[in-house]
Amino acid sequence: MSRQDQFRVCVQCNRTFKFGKHEQERYESMGFDPPLRCPECRKNKQKTKTENKWAPRQRRSQKNWDLEDY
Ligand SMILES: [Zn+2]
Repeated sequence: MSRQDQFRVCVQCNRTFKFGKHEQERYESMGFDPPLRCPECRKNKQKTKTENKWAPRQRRSQKNWDLEDY
């Protein structure tokens, strides 16, 4: 049985996104469920997570910049 590209609706932004057959194979081989969000929302989610993680350090370096300015 040959795989076909799927089109899914993102639960976050309601946009239709392509879930290609290669992606399906990758998800299946890793034992993941098909994605609920479009690549863009997934990227944004990851970005937010990373930003939160680095926020304290960013704030500290910004403070140093302020000090150097004065
Ligand atoms: Zn989305």
